[in-house]
Amino acid sequence: MALKIPVLICGGGPVGLALAIELGTRAIECTLVERGDGNVTVPKMSQLSTRTMEFCRRWGIAEEAKKAGWPEQHPGDFIYLTSMAGRELFRQRFASYAEQGDLGYTPDGPRQCPQIFFDPILLRRAASLPSVTLRHRTELESFEADAHGPHARVTSLQSGAGETISADYLVGCDGFDGPVRKALRTEYEGSGILSYSLSIFFRSKALGELHDKGWGRFYRLVDGSGHWSDLIAIDGRELWRLTLFHLDPDTDADSFDVDGALRHAAGRPFSYEVLSVLPWKRRELVAKSYGRERVFIAGDAAHQMSPTGGLGMNTGIGDAVDLGWKLAAMLQGWGGPRLLNSYEVERKPVAVSSVAASNETYVHETSLPANPAIAEDSAAGERARQEFAAALSARRGAGNERLHESIKLAYCYESSPVIWPDDKAPAPSKSAGAVSLCRSGARAPHAWLRPGVSTLDLFGEDFVLLRCARAIDASSIVDAAPRRGVPLKLIDVESPDVAALYERRLTLIRPDGHVAWRGDDCPADAIALVDRARGALAD
Ligand SMILES: Cc1cc2nc3c(=O)[nH]c(=O)nc-3n(C[C@H](O)[C@H](O)[C@H](O)COP(=O)(O)OP(=O)(O)OC[C@H]3O[C@@H](n4cnc5c(N)ncnc54)[C@H](O)[C@@H]3O)c2cc1C
Repeated sequence: MALKIPVLICGGGPVGLALAIELGTRAIECTLVERGDGNVTVPKMSQLSTRTMEFCRRWGIAEEAKKAGWPEQHPGDFIYLTSMAGRELFRQRFASYAEQGDLGYTPDGPRQCPQIFFDPILLRRAASLPSVTLRHRTELESFEADAHGPHARVTSLQSGAGETISADYLVGCDGFDGPVRKALRTEYEGSGILSYSLSIFFRSKALGELHDKGWGRFYRLVDGSGHWSDLIAIDGRELWRLTLFHLDPDTDADSFDVDGALRHAAGRPFSYEVLSVLPWKRRELVAKSYGRERVFIAGDAAHQMSPTGGLGMNTGIGDAVDLGWKLAAMLQGWGGPRLLNSYEVERKPVAVSSVAASNETYVHETSLPANPAIAEDSAAGERARQEFAAALSARRGAGNERLHESIKLAYCYESSPVIWPDDKAPAPSKSAGAVSLCRSGARAPHAWLRPGVSTLDLFGEDFVLLRCARAIDASSIVDAAPRRGVPLKLIDVESPDVAALYERRLTLIRPDGHVAWRGDDCPADAIALVDRARGALAD
C-alpha cells in the first residue's frame, strides 16, 4: 500500500531542510527525500543574510550559526591584492562581529557561516522535530499528480527498493534542473550561463601565515588580466576556497592545474591539502512558473544567480519560509483557494531582482581595469595600482554593499493578492532606510522591546495583530479570525518607539513576519480583511 503523507520534500540541501524546519515547527508532518548521505563537502554559500539570520533566530539556531565557523574578532574586510604575498591594491573595511555592535535595523545581522557548517545545523534542527522524517540515500524518480495530490516513485539507493509515496503536496527543493521542475514542464527564463567557474576547497595553515594583510573574508586577486579570482577565508583559521572566474567550458576537475592556481594566488609556493575541486556554471535563470495546485519548486530549482552578492541560498530560504506557513494553512484547513497562488506572486519578483543584483555585482567585479603592469616593481606598475584603486573607490562610492542589504531585506509583497494594499506610496526599496520601513507586504520592522527581545520575536507562529494604542477597539478583527479558523493573537505594545516605527495603531502580521494590513482603526469589513489574508477573497 502506498504511504500517504501531508508534504513530501524532494532535496535535502539548505532550502529543503529550511522547509522541513518551517513545517516541523508548525507540527506539520513531512518527509524529506535526499539522494545524498547528508554530508556536505563543498562550502558554497559563505554568508547568511540578515533575513536568514532572523529566521534562524526563530528556529532557535542563530546562536549556533554565529559560533559555527568564523572567529568573532576577525574583521570581515574585502581586500584587493596582486597575490597574498604581493601588493595590496584596495581595502573595503568591515568591522568584526565583536566590534559591530547593535545594527539598529535587526536583532541579528549577517554572519559568515558557509554551507559546510550551516547545512549540518539545519539538518540537526530538522531531525529534532517530531513531525519531520528525513530519508537520505533516497531518490525521487518520478511522480504523477491527480486531484488527490502527487504520487511519487522513490527508490532507496542503499537497498534498491522502490515504493510510492502519495502526498497532499510535493515541493521540489532539488536544485538546478531538478526532476520536479522538469516534470512540471516549466522552463527557465534568463540569459543562462554567464561564465564557467571552478572552486578549489583546501586546508592550509601556512597560507594564513605567509602574508601581511591580516584576516579578511574576501581576498580579491588581480593580475595583469584583471580580477581573476576570489580567495575566501572559510573559517578564519585554515580552510579556504579559491574561486576562478573565466574558465573554458570543458575544464575538468581532474586535469586542472590546481597547484598552479594556488601558487599564483599565494604569490609563492606553500603547503596545502586539497579537499575538493568543483567546476560549476555561473547562471542567471528564473523558472517561468513556481508550480501549481499541489506541486511547487523552491530554491535553486526555481532560480540560479551568480554567487557575487551572496543572494542564492538566502533567496531560497525566503522561498521556504513563504511556502511553509501557506502549506500549513492549507493542511490545517484555513487557507483559501488563492493562498498558494500567492507564493509565486510574492517570491518570483524577489528572485528576479536578486538575479539582477548578483549579475550587476559580477559585472562590476570582473570589469575592473586590467593592466599588465599591475604587479610590476616600476613606475608603470605604481601608476597601474593607483588607477585601479581610484576606479574601485569611485565605484564603491555607489554604496554597493548597502544596496545588497536593502535587496536582502526590503523586498515587499505589495502586489500580492493576499496583502491589503497600503495607504502610503511604495517605499524606494534601494535606499538604506528601506530596511526599517513598515509597509503592507514588507517585513515587519525590528525594534527592541527590552534587552534581548525584538519585535520580531513576537511573530512566526500565528497571525499577530499588533496594537500600539490599547484604547483602540480591535475586537472586530479578533472576532473575525476564529470565525474563519485563522489563528491570531492580539499583542499590545506600549512603546513610543515601536508606535513611531510602525506608524499605524494596528498592524496585522503574517506568520512569516510580513505585514498583511495596517490601519489606525479596524476596517469596516473585518471578515473581508481576514479572508484576503488567508487567500479566500477574489481581487
Ligand atoms: C561557489 C558557490 C558559492 C556560493 N555562494 C553563495 C553565497 O555566498 N550566498 C548564497 O546565498 N548562495 C551562494 N551559493 C548558492 C548556494 O549554494 C545555492 O543557492 C544553494 O545551495 C541552493 O540550495 P538548494 O537547497 O535550493 O539546492 P541544492 O543545494 O542544490 O540542494 C538540492 C538537493 O536536492 C537533491 N536532489 C536532487 N535531485 C534529487 C532527487 N531526484 N531525489 C532526491 N534528492 C535530490 C540533491 O542531492 C541536493 O542535495 C553559492 C554557490 C556556489 C556554487
